Amino acid sequence: MPFVVTENCIKCKHTDCVEVCPVDCFHEGPNFLVIDPDECIDCTLCEPECPVGAIFPEEDVPAGQEVFIALNAELAKQWPVITVRKDPLPDHAEWDGKPNKLALLER
Ligand code: SF4
Ligand code: SF4
Repeated sequence: MPFVVTENCIKCKHTDCVEVCPVDCFHEGPNFLVIDPDECIDCTLCEPECPVGAIFPEEDVPAGQEVFIALNAELAKQWPVITVRKDPLPDHAEWDGKPNKLALLER
């Protein structure tokens, strides 16, 4: 079961998670990151690194956020790999925990 990036990463994009991944399976979009489910080896290292609690094992994705399982798989095929940490988006603190951010996801 791969790990999945969920809604709270949208418009936050701290990138603390990417450097710990041993198989470089994070991919970067304009305001969100995804995990490639075909590459993730379920090592669990990224989950505690995310300061906003956006990463879950696929079987533990919160109710209502199941759509992110397919989105991670789809967007990982389109976006480039990111392996080095960078600064979060400038207004990230303002967006932490806000509901219904899916409509703000940029592709
Ligand atoms: S640390 Fe969390 S919020 Fe930041 S890019 Fe990774 S998954 Fe997204
Ligand atoms: S669980 Fe491990 S392999 Fe999967 S995305 Fe996180 S750090 Fe990478």
